[in-house]
Amino acid sequence: MITTPEVDAYLASLAPERSLLLRRLEREAAQEEIPIIQLPSVQMIRLWLLAHRPTSILEVGTAIGYSTIWLADAAPQASIVTIEMDASRAERAQANIAEAGMAGRVSVIQADATAGLPGDQTFDCLFIDAAKGQYRTFLDLYLPRIVTGGLIICDNILFRGLVADPSQAGKRLRPMVEKLRDFNDYLRNHPQLETTFIPVGDGIAVSVKKQEPGSDA
Ligand code: SAH
Ligand code: MG
Repeated sequence: MITTPEVDAYLASLAPERSLLLRRLEREAAQEEIPIIQLPSVQMIRLWLLAHRPTSILEVGTAIGYSTIWLADAAPQASIVTIEMDASRAERAQANIAEAGMAGRVSVIQADATAGLPGDQTFDCLFIDAAKGQYRTFLDLYLPRIVTGGLIICDNILFRGLVADPSQAGKRLRPMVEKLRDFNDYLRNHPQLETTFIPVGDGIAVSVKKQEPGSDA
């Protein structure tokens, strides 16, 4: 948690209305400790999508489709490809997305996203929310598939506030937290990206893919 509990509770009271389906997924995620995106983060991402109007989105880390449904709703013109390596989660995501009436424009791919995505489809928006220790791998792999001017959104980049001070992390989380910290530096210094780091939810980074230096495309 990045903010105080009081501020968090207050922000939660400002959360958008949501469907019974989304509420059910929130309950299931809480019961099963599936780390779905926090509502203030979703609100922020939805605004970016409404402004940016992507027509194709690649999501890395579907879990049970909670964030996917929010993204698809905020970008009704978009087709979405979402990758989840856990077979049972991918299956549940597929069913939940169908229940939301979005199966026609969302493809759930059950695969390890570090293996890349077959084909050469490009995307206007990339949402990274899978294994936190592998964000750099995901970014390096998929950035070439993002159009110039495309949005790259990364969730959990402050990881419970621990990324600001990895020495506060226990032994188990420390390596992952260090990797996220390196990843944030990587984003900051990436020549193709303009990035801002936002302390909402568990921390989100939003980047725009800039024109390649020396190109006028
Ligand atoms: N975006 C979801 C939450 C995703 S949780 C939401 O906000 O609703 C992270 C998910 O990434 C987990 O379900 C995990 O199984 C998946 N994952 C982790 N590493 C992965 C990889 N290498 N390839 C594909 N999925 C991965
Ligand atoms: Mg997340």
